[in-house]
Formats: sequence, structure tokens, C-alpha cells
Amino acid sequence: MNLQERLKAEVEARRDDLVALTQDLIRMPTLNPPGLNYREICDYLDRRLLHAGFQTELIRAEGAIGDSDKYPRWNLVARREGVLAGECVHFNSHIDVVDVGHGWTMPPFGGDVKDGKVYGRGACDMKGGLAASIIAAEAFIDICPGYAGAIEISATADEESGGFGGVAYLAKKGYFSPDRVDHVIIPEPLNKDRICLGHRGVWWAEIETKGEIAHGSMPFLGDCAVRHMGAVMREMEDKLFPALAARRTDMPVVPEGARQSTLNINSIHGGEAEQELDYTGLPSPCVPDRCRMVIDRRFLIEEDIGEVEAEIRDMLERVRMDRESFDYDMRELHRVLPSMTERDAPVVVSVGQAIQKVFGREAEYVVSPGTYDQKHIDRIGRLKNCIAYGPGILDLAHKPDEYVGIDDMVQSAQVMALTLYDLLGK
Ligand SMILES: [Zn+2]
Repeated sequence: MNLQERLKAEVEARRDDLVALTQDLIRMPTLNPPGLNYREICDYLDRRLLHAGFQTELIRAEGAIGDSDKYPRWNLVARREGVLAGECVHFNSHIDVVDVGHGWTMPPFGGDVKDGKVYGRGACDMKGGLAASIIAAEAFIDICPGYAGAIEISATADEESGGFGGVAYLAKKGYFSPDRVDHVIIPEPLNKDRICLGHRGVWWAEIETKGEIAHGSMPFLGDCAVRHMGAVMREMEDKLFPALAARRTDMPVVPEGARQSTLNINSIHGGEAEQELDYTGLPSPCVPDRCRMVIDRRFLIEEDIGEVEAEIRDMLERVRMDRESFDYDMRELHRVLPSMTERDAPVVVSVGQAIQKVFGREAEYVVSPGTYDQKHIDRIGRLKNCIAYGPGILDLAHKPDEYVGIDDMVQSAQVMALTLYDLLGK
């Protein structure tokens, strides 16, 4: 048996260990918000990785958004040096999971195994991927103890809420700088035979239309901000949505529907605040003098963020030309630039070859409709050689009865181990 076959067999032999590790991780409810049990899961991983010969650092993202003494943002970075000098391969996984929600038939933090799947919140997004990367590293270290370079595994906070107390913080501290790390793999659930090269951009903004309050029986004495917003929405329907839908990207975004520019209206509110459910009185008669809308614009690598913003502003200015007394404010809430790693980047080529070896077919190359921590590694860390690759089906993320397939985890761990062999073992 050649070394690559031995590596695959070694991962297969650790199948039960992989399942048990995934179950242990699921059983720690690392809910975010508010950010529970981060220290507990980091301590658990710390013990595991120390045992495998890693040097570890527990890092609290002090001062980051979300960090507090009540809910500290803990992160773990583990590094294992090889025997010879060489490159560094880094696996980064987020430890946080989203709210459970309704509709579960399995215990959300039970880690139950049924029909070849491990169930629980975070099973697919992304504790299964974290476990697979650890098993891959441990198997590789046993089979190729004389490897060159270094392996790093990080477990980071807050990806689900923007990553500021996790990867962004570590990137600012230099943990993802090119002089320390050469290749980054983020085991997010993009399916075991797909390589995710990056993501579209994000631009969130709040639009507020302004009016004048008056008695509802005499609306002509006021100026209705909701009607002004209605005019904005008409302009969106007539011109903006068709223009966005016509714009196509060369990025291989999945699903297909996200291969165009999109805009979601996240929320809209005008006039009197909604009352508590137990309020039994009537509303009061007022002309709304404010109406606010939050928009979520996802843009393509071919689009410039300045033009994305200008397009919305131009639309508002067109409405202003039509309507006397129209006035508005627009405020940016959040921005993320698109990111896409080149198809011939070393980590892409290496993982692509490993997928070919494990599955006997070519990898699929995709781009994610939403963002994940790659944005911080790219923009803050300045490291371009980064992909998302991991087990689990993206559609199951954040849903009830979330699960990860055990065969999928084993096969992805094989891909990761072969990648380590390719980059550090030869
Ligand atoms: Zn995730």
C-alpha cells in the first residue's frame, strides 16, 4: 500500500473516534448569540490537540464587538511544527452555532446517531467539519511524522455574527498573515466534493424617509413618510429589481439563483411603534413622520461597491425629482467586499487533486451566496490562498434536525489528510 492509501485507511480506522469527537462538540451548546460555552469548547479542544503534540494558545478577543466578562469571546489556535522547514496549512473552524428554533424531532444538543448521521445544532455547520480536520491532522501526523512545515488548527468565535470576536480579531493580531500561514482551509459545509473559492459582497444600508406628523383625520396637514417610502418601493420594483436581475456574474455562485445581483428588504417600519401583544387599546391617529427600511444588497465581483451605493442613491434622487417635499437619509450599516481565490491557487489545486483521488471525479468549484470568515482572512490577513472545504450539506445549516453524514465526514477527512500529505508530506 502506498502512503496515500495508508493515509486513507488510517482515517477510515478512526471513524468511531471521528463520530465521538463530533458528538462531544455538539453536546457543548455554543449558542451565538449570546456566545455560550466558548471557553468550555476551547478547553476541550486544547486538551485534545495538546495530546496530539500541538502547541496551543487560548486567546480572548478582548475589546471586540460582543466580548464581555459575562460572554467572553474565546478562541483557540494550535500549531504543530514538523521536522523540516516548510509551509503552514491552517484549518479554521468556527465554534459557534445559531439558535435552535422550532421543529426538531431529535435532541438539538444530543449528538444522536441514526442511519449513518450525527444529529444536532452545529452538526453540519460546522462541528462535523472541525472534527474531520482534527482527525485528518492526527492521522497524517501518525503516518508522516517526519513532515515538513506546520499544521495549524484554529477554533474561533462568532462567525455567525460577523466574526469580529473570532477570525477578524486573530487576523488583526497577525495569525493569518502570509509570513505565518501559507494555506487556509475553512471546513464549512459546502459538500465533500466541492471547493468554495469565495463569496459575493454585502452592502447593508438603512433608508429613512421623512415626513411631518399631523392628526390622522387631516392627513393633508402633515406629510406621510410611509407614502414616500411607497414611492421608493415602486421605483425599486420598476427599475432596480429588473436591473439587478439582469446583471450576471462569472463567479460560479451556487445556488444558480444567486448568480445575479440581489437585494432583500430586511425590514420596513413607519409610524407609531407596534404595541406589546397584551395591549388592548387602539392605535392613535397620526400621520407617520418617519419610515425606515433596511436593505441587504449582495453584489458581484464585477461590481464596484461605490457604484452599488451610488445606484441606490440615484434611485432615491429620481424619487425626489417626482415628489415635492421628499426627503431622506441613507446610512451604511455593513459592508463586505467580494472575495474569490484563483482557480490555480496552490490550496485549490491540492484539495482538487485530493478530491479526485478520494471520489474518482473532478471537484466542483463554487462560490457562496453569503459570506463567511474568508472575508477577514482575505481583507485583514491579506492571505489569498484560502478556500472553504468541508463535509455536510449547506442547505441543512441553521435548520431543524441538522445533521452531518458520517461517510461524508470520513471522506472529507481523507481529502484533508491527502491535502496535508501533498503540501507537507512529500
Ligand atoms: Zn458556518
